[in-house]
Amino acid sequence: MLNRNKKWLISGSFIFVVLIAGCEQLGIDWNSNSNNEQENQQIEESVNNEETLNREVEQDENNEVSREETDTNKEETEEEAIETVLQRDENGLVIVPNPESIEVIVNKERRLPEGYEPPDLVEPDVEFHAGEGDPKRQMRQEAAHALEELFAIAEKEGIELVAVSGYRSYNRQEVIYNNSVEKNGEEHANQYSAKPGTSEHQTGLAMDVASSQRVSVLEPSFIDTDEGQWLDENAHRAGFIIRYPDGKENITGYNYEPWHLRYVGKELATEIYKQQLTLEEFFGLFNE
Ligand SMILES: [Zn+2]
Repeated sequence: MLNRNKKWLISGSFIFVVLIAGCEQLGIDWNSNSNNEQENQQIEESVNNEETLNREVEQDENNEVSREETDTNKEETEEEAIETVLQRDENGLVIVPNPESIEVIVNKERRLPEGYEPPDLVEPDVEFHAGEGDPKRQMRQEAAHALEELFAIAEKEGIELVAVSGYRSYNRQEVIYNNSVEKNGEEHANQYSAKPGTSEHQTGLAMDVASSQRVSVLEPSFIDTDEGQWLDENAHRAGFIIRYPDGKENITGYNYEPWHLRYVGKELATEIYKQQLTLEEFFGLFNE
């Protein structure tokens, strides 16, 4: 019995070993099959990746082309803009390309085009120093309405203003300038009077404003009056800025003029007031 059992045990073990070996053999095949599949997948993936890369390269090339196109367009636009800005008169002054814009910047280096007249001059309904029918009572329509609003706000807050000088034509400015040259010489005239075409009053967007008690005071001490102080802090509420602020003479080209209001619209006026800037600084026309 023992011998027979031993035989079974031995032959059973043999079969078991053969089976294990067989299974292992099969197992290796299975593994290698799945490895091959993985490898195939990886190859496919890498092929796909290469295709993706190729597509990406193509896209990059396309992007570069479109970037180049955009850059070229941008350069052209900038060149056009510069060309427009750099149109100059015989004295080298820039001729502003946007005289009718409420954001136009006119100063000693930037003038209005020859013979420019604002298209929509009207008389604001406010208290004036100048007599009825005087052209200096005029402003452009939008600015005139804003001035009425400003005077109304001021009155509510106990401030009595009077409008002194608004629109001034090219010809009128020419007479003023030439008189000054004859009287005091060109150097003095250039310092104290605007050359024709360079006065902001010709835009129809400016108004000199005084205290109704002291109309004659168009000088820096106006800031010491209640009216001057009030304008400094509140003009922006109706869309005006103090165009020639104290301490910015080297930027604006003008001494402090607390009475000279310039209409630019409420949004811009508020921004310029908050940041305590000049029009030149706000539009990047001044490089320190
Ligand atoms: Zn003025």
